[in-house]
Amino acid sequence: MTVSIRQIHPSFAGEVTGVDCTQPLSAGDVAAIQAGMDHYGVLVFRDQPVNDDQQLAFTLHFGKLEAYNTAGHIKKKDDSRGLGAGIADFSNLDKSGNIISEQDRIWFFKLGDRLWHSDSSFRPVPAGYSLLSGRTIPTWGANTEFADMRGAYDALDDRTKAEIEDLICEHSLIFSREAIGFTDLTPEERAAFTPVRQRLVRIQERTGRRSLFLSSHAGTILGWTIPEARMFLRDLTEFATREQFVYSHPWHVGDLVIWDNRTTMHRARRFDRNEVRDVRRTTLAGHAATAEQVA
Ligand code: MN
Repeated sequence: MTVSIRQIHPSFAGEVTGVDCTQPLSAGDVAAIQAGMDHYGVLVFRDQPVNDDQQLAFTLHFGKLEAYNTAGHIKKKDDSRGLGAGIADFSNLDKSGNIISEQDRIWFFKLGDRLWHSDSSFRPVPAGYSLLSGRTIPTWGANTEFADMRGAYDALDDRTKAEIEDLICEHSLIFSREAIGFTDLTPEERAAFTPVRQRLVRIQERTGRRSLFLSSHAGTILGWTIPEARMFLRDLTEFATREQFVYSHPWHVGDLVIWDNRTTMHRARRFDRNEVRDVRRTTLAGHAATAEQVA
């Protein structure tokens, strides 16, 4: 089979054919997919009924798994549904396989994924690719939307580009959850979610292109007052998520979607909470702290 990619949005995002994600890839396939990610930022693979082991094996063709000692959420490890190591549960199910109660603080926390964000932007070295596999999909809603942060950067006016070139933001899960009114965090959780610094403008190692590194986890800009920073970040996010920069993915069972967290933002969309949504994510580590990037 030969990897082939068709662009599915005017600004970015592609659909890949000619790959079986359940099987080992050739070096040529890996290189073609990587080049596709550099170019499109988001790649959609349809009819890929991977199990956890196959998703993990496919993921590892493209780098190392992200690994941190603290969880990137409030769910405890012993709450997991027994998914394999390296597979993150993004379902609305609890450990018994029941839909999480609407009163559960874990559900409150998960709702924060419906804000625009970049995975692990609250980590010292934020994530590279995320890979999401659709196992059970609700009958209505539940799209994932992606925003092209290179296209958005390119479309900024020159004054704004100059103003933001060297700005540093602080990102934390505390800021994104605060934004939806969820502030009920334990002292241990707050300590685990200590803000980290990220550049607002990233330069991609492989392409040299600049992108906006926005995320609802961003809560401050160094040297700015909080209201000024939050208002500006909100303005930039509004601009960067205009329709011309957004691809909305309608999920089907067996879809596998890869996005590059360095060049895109994403958000989950509403669905009927009485229906099961079982999607599973693998996440690749980024290469360096954003503050270390060289122009
Ligand atoms: Mn996410």
